[in-house]
Amino acid sequence: MKILCAVKRVVDYNVKIRVKTDQSGVETSNVKFSMNPFDEIAVEEAVRLKEAGTATEIVVVSVGPTQAQETLRTALAMGADRAILVQTDVTTEPLAVAKVLKALVGKEAPGLVILGKQAIDDDCNQTGQMLAALLGWGQGTFASKVAPAGDAVAVTREIDGGLEVVSLKLPAVVTADLRLNEPRYASLPNIMKAKKKPLETVTPDSLGVDVTPRLKTVKVAEPAKRQAGIKVPDVATLVDKLKTEARVI
Ligand code: AMP
Repeated sequence: MKILCAVKRVVDYNVKIRVKTDQSGVETSNVKFSMNPFDEIAVEEAVRLKEAGTATEIVVVSVGPTQAQETLRTALAMGADRAILVQTDVTTEPLAVAKVLKALVGKEAPGLVILGKQAIDDDCNQTGQMLAALLGWGQGTFASKVAPAGDAVAVTREIDGGLEVVSLKLPAVVTADLRLNEPRYASLPNIMKAKKKPLETVTPDSLGVDVTPRLKTVKVAEPAKRQAGIKVPDVATLVDKLKTEARVI
């Protein structure tokens, strides 16, 4: 079974996000970028399925600028076999990425597509769901366990009430949640090996997809600063303040 994994290049999760002074978006110059953390989990799961003998090939895809090659190389160093960069300099929106992935699914015919549950830059949490809808495939979102068996896959999902297990007929779409696994660090020899693995660059046009953004950002603003707290001298004062000053949310 071939697995297709989608990996997005995002501002590193350790970076303190700054809003551009003209409020048109988030500052991205001189900022560290890395692979979306949920996509690392998606790649790790694919690599584990290959190590277990369930998957035969892992193809990683990123839709983004030339620099997204670095993200793809990281995925190759983790154990993916081949990478495809769908090169574009426009801001990618979930529907556009889902259409690109659908076109690649048409070419690559994977048995499973694994994405992150959400990209931490826009927190959309839409691409996997849209892809499954476009393909007419089953979807197992927020996966904390993925267990393929024959022509189906059992996906344990993290839902508000606890856990839910869905059985999907393959091919299917899965999105990775935090507890699915702990991604490995790429070792130095694997980083060196990854440099020689195939990385193909294509354009959205060549896949017949128009990725022109449809959303217009009106304004980006920082959330209001939290007000400083106060210290109370004893429990009695605390209880009193809770009774008289606490607001019911
Ligand atoms: P989102 O719907 O934007 O929160 O993204 C959900 C998942 O879709 C991410 O974790 C990635 O696996 C995938 N994805 C979103 N945008 C891209 C992109 N530009 N390139 C590759 N994968 C993407």
